Amino acid sequence: MSDLAFQQCMAPDCGATYGLDEVMYACRRCGALLDIRYDWPRCTVPKSLSFFESRWGTPGRSTEARADFSGVWRFRELLPFATSEELVTIGEGRTLLQQADELAAKIGIKPSCLYLQYEGLNPSGSFKDNGMAAAFTMARRLGRRRVGCASTGNTSASLALYARHTPSSDGHSMQAVVFVGGDKIAFGKLAQALDFGAKTIQIDGDFDTCMKLVQEAADRLGLYLMNSINPFRLEGQKTIIYRVLEGLGWEVPDWVIVPGGNLGNTSAFGKAFIELRELGLLKHIPRLAVINAAGANTLYELHERENIRFDGGRWDRARVEAWYARMSAEGRRAKTVASAIEIGRPVNLPKALRSLEAMNGVVRQVNDEDILDGKALVGTHGFGCEPASGASVAGLRLLLEERVISPSDRVVCILTGHQLKDPDVTVNYHRGSRDGMGAGSYANPPARCPADIEAIANLLDT
Ligand SMILES: *Cc1c(COP(=O)(O)O)cnc(C)c1O
Ligand SMILES: [Zn+2]
Repeated sequence: MSDLAFQQCMAPDCGATYGLDEVMYACRRCGALLDIRYDWPRCTVPKSLSFFESRWGTPGRSTEARADFSGVWRFRELLPFATSEELVTIGEGRTLLQQADELAAKIGIKPSCLYLQYEGLNPSGSFKDNGMAAAFTMARRLGRRRVGCASTGNTSASLALYARHTPSSDGHSMQAVVFVGGDKIAFGKLAQALDFGAKTIQIDGDFDTCMKLVQEAADRLGLYLMNSINPFRLEGQKTIIYRVLEGLGWEVPDWVIVPGGNLGNTSAFGKAFIELRELGLLKHIPRLAVINAAGANTLYELHERENIRFDGGRWDRARVEAWYARMSAEGRRAKTVASAIEIGRPVNLPKALRSLEAMNGVVRQVNDEDILDGKALVGTHGFGCEPASGASVAGLRLLLEERVISPSDRVVCILTGHQLKDPDVTVNYHRGSRDGMGAGSYANPPARCPADIEAIANLLDT
């Protein structure tokens, strides 16, 4: 483990530092979130980002070959908290940025201005694998045998997969424990957790309840927490941005658009850009748009309506607490078809505010209809994505309408999860059998036809 890295409280008026091996998920002194920080002058950082292009590795047995093959660890100089021997990888992050001209034409963007980053192409089918590679590296380093998370689905799938592939430092396999909220979890994701052998606990409650519970359980049950409150997760997720930049030939886009749930990506993306600028590897930082589902719109409410700003770390905690107290008093709970972002109390809120400040960001909310139309549009142009990811395209359409984004801006939408994660939602959208809703605007319903060649011919001709 490197002595070039340490943990630091994100609150500027505290700034307490802790060693990497001290396990905590909040500052012991003031309770704020922790960042992983580096003594950059003593680190070996390449002089230019194009250095990383030489790392498009081929699979091999050596530690270096495996690290180079990983879309996370081939950027290891930018998250240097572990030695090459310590890195955990199952080949995550080999995802590509796709230019999406057809989709661009359909929603009114100029050619070569819209790009989609398909993080669903990760081993477990979501971007969470980027973060797990980093957090499991730490779990093994710490000698932990039991890892856990609260999950709307994808965190549990990813955690369960990595637990199978990461023997603890004493050679035992790790026990994966996942807390999922009632019957909310999409079947594709639950199927993964069960198949990979995770201890899956369905709690009577929503994600926010699970999150609170797993934090209590962490201490009591010796569980190493793998939610994005674990700052090592965010180090792995920074690499999504590195790959986006690489896909653009290291040119900075005008906008990055991402769905917002627990706000891990939002936090990681801002940190990635702040560091690249600090290191002199980038001069310019793009703008960020975070898209909430209208039924789970805490960040939208706080940032756009209450005007809560990071304000160099002096954000108005009292007003945020008052807002949450009202939410509880009124019995408001997160509710959206995009289960991956059905979160009312995002744990990374302060870090997200910091990212929005650094990236001159905006937050928008989109309703479930628009989310599903966004998802369907992505599907008609290839690869596809799950509902939550569709929020980024829905948000882009809204921002174009508002003229916040112009048709000649270069825009990257992050597609967070794979199309097959939540097939029920997709099939219902096309068939028009959604509770109370008809078929979606881009529905492609299956046709019923007798088993007769004439009838089929007629069907295809009409
Ligand atoms: C976890 C998840 C999100 C939410 O990401 P945050 O980093 O928690 O905001 C969005 N989409 C998918 C598919 C996810 O799995
Ligand atoms: Zn502190």
